[in-house]
Amino acid sequence: MLFSYTQIANYLRCPRSYRHRYLDGWREKETRAAMIFGRCFEKALESYFCGDDCAATLHREWGVLRDTPLEYKKGESWDRLVQQGVHLLQRFAQDNRVRIPQPKENLQIKMVRELSGANQFVAYIDAIGELDGQRCLIDWKTTTSRYPEEPAGLLSLDPQLISYSWMTGITEVAFVVFVRKHQAEIQYLKTSISEEQRMEFGHLVGATIDQIEAAQFPSHSGIRFPQNGCVSCAHLGLCLDDQKLIDASLIRTPGASDLDWVDQLVD
Ligand code: SF4
Repeated sequence: MLFSYTQIANYLRCPRSYRHRYLDGWREKETRAAMIFGRCFEKALESYFCGDDCAATLHREWGVLRDTPLEYKKGESWDRLVQQGVHLLQRFAQDNRVRIPQPKENLQIKMVRELSGANQFVAYIDAIGELDGQRCLIDWKTTTSRYPEEPAGLLSLDPQLISYSWMTGITEVAFVVFVRKHQAEIQYLKTSISEEQRMEFGHLVGATIDQIEAAQFPSHSGIRFPQNGCVSCAHLGLCLDDQKLIDASLIRTPGASDLDWVDQLVD
C-alpha cells in the first residue's frame, strides 16, 4: 500500500476522518479557488526555471478556469488572483535568490521509500536547488497570510519539512512562501532538520501504519480551541449524519484513492 505525508498527517489529526477519506472514498469537492490557483502558480514557477514566459503560463493555466464556478474568499476574484500571481512572479525574479539547476530533473521530484510489509511512502518534492547559494530542498507555498517566523527555529518543527528531509536525507530545507496580499511579499524560510528528527519521523510513520493496518479509526473530535478540528473538517456532515452538509462538501469515489499526495498543495 502507498502512504504519503498527507495520509499520515490526516490519520494523526483524526483517524475517523482518515477512514472516511481513504477507506470509504469520501473526498472533499475541489472548489476552493485559492487551492486551485496554487497549483497553477506552481506550473508558472516551473516555466520560470525552464526559461519560459512564466506570466503567460499563469494566464494560460488559470485562464482555463475563468468560467468555472469556484469558491472565492471575500475580496478575491479570478482577476485579482492572477494580478497577485504576476506581481509575485516579478518579485521572485527580482529577488533572484533561488536557483534550480537542471530544472527538468530537479522540480516535482517523485521519491519513493520502501517500508516494511511491502508498503511504500511516496512524496513529490517541489524542488531541490540552491537558496542564497546553499543547496537545499524547497517547498513552495501560496497563502494569504505570512508564515510565523518567531521564535527562532520554529520552522524546524514543521512536520512536512521533516518528512521530506526523512525521504531525501537532505538536512537543509526551506519554504518559499508567496504571500498573496496587497503588497506582494515572499518569505524565504530556511531551517535544518537533524538526524534524530528524521529517525523519530520514521518511527512515527511505522507506528501510524501499524494502527491503520490494525483498523484503529477512533474519532478525535473537537470543537473548541485548541482541538477544534471538527469545525473545519470536510467530513463533518458524515459525523453529524447531515445529508445537506455531505452534498455540499463531499463526493464519493470508489474505495481508497491513489493520488492523495497532491493535496499537499493546500495552504
Ligand atoms: S468531524 Fe471531527 S470526528 Fe468527524 S472526522 Fe472530522 S475531525 Fe473527526
